[in-house]
Amino acid sequence: MIEKPILEDISKIVKLGHHIFDETTRYELDQSCAWVKDLFNELEEEVDREESEYKSGNINCQLSLKRKSGKPFADHLLVRGKIQTNYMAPCIRCLKLTDQEVDAEFQVCFIPHHLENEPEFEELDDIFTENEEFSLYYHEKGNADIAEMVHENLFMNIEHFPLHDENCLGLCSECGQDLNVETCKHQKNQ
Ligand SMILES: [Zn+2]
Ligand SMILES: [Zn+2]
Repeated sequence: MIEKPILEDISKIVKLGHHIFDETTRYELDQSCAWVKDLFNELEEEVDREESEYKSGNINCQLSLKRKSGKPFADHLLVRGKIQTNYMAPCIRCLKLTDQEVDAEFQVCFIPHHLENEPEFEELDDIFTENEEFSLYYHEKGNADIAEMVHENLFMNIEHFPLHDENCLGLCSECGQDLNVETCKHQKNQ
């Protein structure tokens, strides 16, 4: 078998019709891919990149796609993926920028949308094929929303309440003093 080159860009929506059955296509994506860059920007949407503490991070997404046919899923797409990122987010208590990372793997299978209402699939979240478990997604008439799927798998793995330190004292609600640095009169009165 011929080793195919690893591609560096993929559109948000993958058209199954453009993929040959049983052939694996691999992608290695970073911020040069527009929607991957959007994911990174969304992770840092609360961050002021002009701040002196800001360090620029990175994002990397590896995808391997294989279109398959046959029972019981008809025309379907298997996706094995990995997403790794280092980014910054403000501490939820004191707003100091903190380093965050995600290193997640996922395996999903896009099956035809019309199967969603079949009793067989109604309650199903995962399927077993090629001796592995895949989370179930649906493609719309051969259009698989890869970007939305990666978005979901990334954001279910981020820290939703970042803390710069688990004992962070936060800011005074009266005057905004950073209580990690110094106590203010409002705290002394309590
Ligand atoms: Zn903090
Ligand atoms: Zn205060």
